[in-house]
Amino acid sequence: MLVVFLGPPGSGKGTQARIISAQMGLKHVSTGDMLREVSKSASPLGRKLSEYLEKGELVNDDLVNQIVAEFLAKPEYKNGFILDGFPRTLAQAKFLEEIYTGSYKVIHFKIDVEKLKHRVEGRFNCLDCGEIYNKYNTLIKEGECNKCHGSNFQYRADDNVDSLVTRITKFEEQIVQILEFYNERNRLSVVNADEAIENVTKQIVSAVKNG
Ligand code: AMP
Repeated sequence: MLVVFLGPPGSGKGTQARIISAQMGLKHVSTGDMLREVSKSASPLGRKLSEYLEKGELVNDDLVNQIVAEFLAKPEYKNGFILDGFPRTLAQAKFLEEIYTGSYKVIHFKIDVEKLKHRVEGRFNCLDCGEIYNKYNTLIKEGECNKCHGSNFQYRADDNVDSLVTRITKFEEQIVQILEFYNERNRLSVVNADEAIENVTKQIVSAVKNG
């Protein structure tokens, strides 16, 4: 089973993907994480990608489609996974429909965009266990991860106001067509992403299980 998470930056996709992944035994695939990994390399592709990422610009469809297709073909993803951050354009949604023949569901994280800036600004994550911190999930002890007690933290270069505004605007431009596409195919469930973390998780589990 493939579960697609659609939502603007800061809507909680990453946090929920980690929870649902553990609860339902689905692997978590984030195109943002994949691209950030490739962008660290000193190759021309790596340098080009880091420019896009820092500005919050979308990476071109062909490149992202190719990366996702490679993941879908791997045997370890045969039993299903959560796709977080893809599709971000109608062309990507059409591509996924073509290459993925199994069953899949799409969860739309609906949230008032005005609230997103507060969620994303100052966001950082633990490099050891992946826990995401922001104004709603803060460190209990300064410098120590609540979950794994590690002390390796990372801020994202693209979590600044300019980049965030670009990313939210791009999301809003594309999402209407994508939602229409999935609605027509009866794949779409909408969750209220503005609720407490555990309530959002409940909504997602129910949508995935019951459709
Ligand atoms: P995320 O971690 O999902 O917020 O993604 C971080 C950045 O990676 C985005 O701002 C884009 O620059 C790039 N990116 C991630 N997924 C995609 C995608 N499906 N299509 C194009 N660019 C993407």
